[in-house]
Amino acid sequence: MNKADFGVFIGRFQPLHIGHEHVIRQALDQVGRLIVLVGSANVARDPRNPFTFDERAAMLRAAFRHEIAEERLIVEPLDDHLYSDTAWVTEVQRRVNRLILDVGNGHGFGSHGLADFRVALTGYGKDASSYYLRLFPEWDNIQIDSQYGTFSSTDVRRRYFQRIPEVPASILTSDVAAWLDAFKLGEAFRTLLEESEYLADYPKQWGKGPFVTADAVVVQSGHILLVERGRLPGKGLLALPGGFVDAGERIRDAAIRELREETGISDGKGQIPPAMLGSFIEDHRTRVFDAPNRSLRGRVITHAFLFRLPERRKLFAVKGGDDAAHARWYRLGDLSPEMFFEDHWSIIEEMADL
Ligand code: NAD
Repeated sequence: MNKADFGVFIGRFQPLHIGHEHVIRQALDQVGRLIVLVGSANVARDPRNPFTFDERAAMLRAAFRHEIAEERLIVEPLDDHLYSDTAWVTEVQRRVNRLILDVGNGHGFGSHGLADFRVALTGYGKDASSYYLRLFPEWDNIQIDSQYGTFSSTDVRRRYFQRIPEVPASILTSDVAAWLDAFKLGEAFRTLLEESEYLADYPKQWGKGPFVTADAVVVQSGHILLVERGRLPGKGLLALPGGFVDAGERIRDAAIRELREETGISDGKGQIPPAMLGSFIEDHRTRVFDAPNRSLRGRVITHAFLFRLPERRKLFAVKGGDDAAHARWYRLGDLSPEMFFEDHWSIIEEMADL
């Protein structure tokens, strides 16, 4: 069979290790060009996704300098849409289509269409998290039969985020190992280490869950009400007002209580009473958000409530309180996913129909 013109390989590469590199080299033998889509490109740093897209692209450049210079390997960012595989698949298809038409036609106005190029997807189905390899039936498959070694990026991160960090050089390309060595001296490493230690202690203090939480998605005149987190985890990131449901409390009431505590939301007559806030909830829009990895604290299942406040020229007054350092109205168009804690951006995408 002829080689596919383009291969596609999707991964998080947190960080890139020689197992990934092995798959990329095998795929490069079987395709004309390989597109590497670097997933979770739009999330804030946390101990599971510690490195930004640019940093991971730099790791790939260090390991595949020549292939990238010759455009045999193309590296592109890919955003998560945690609660919509359809949106995510669409983004993969769009990015790949655009690159194929552009690069396949030599960056000019060549006359080839998408149907002129054969595309194949590669990846090793390591566990249930690799289900996405089945979401692209239109493409051929490049079978990678076995895992290369028994390590994963999780092992690298476990050894790295310690007081005395260990850079497992035997499973990293020397440039990537050197990069990790340099990164551990910076401020971002210290913040990640602090967060990682906090998260390691969390189950000892609170158990493993499942925990039930409630979040308030409050919109008014093109704005959304958000808090800046005042504590670990995710200190400094934006979040929906919300929190843990108390024993004996209904989940809907918890959303209202947390909204009042964290934002002190008030109108011309003072703090808005719970019953009135409740009347702004669009109950048919209430939704559970339960991605198993949505929180690094453990299994946290949240319920999001949409509060649609009356359209006004002057928005309701708010101020930060309780766990929130600040509460503020944000114009939806000014926000970007990497500003947010955990999956709160993905929740907003779903609840506010973005
Ligand atoms: P990863 O970096 O863990 O793995 C990338 C690939 O390398 C996988 O095919 C994996 O099996 C392979 N691999 C890993 N270690 C190997 C080894 N030792 N030997 C051989 N192969 C090895 O990345 P991932 O978590 O699979 O990445 C998937 C990306 O797609 C993530 O960013 C995820 O968020 C994203 N995604 C998003 C959605 C959504 O937003 N709806 C849905 C599905 C996937």
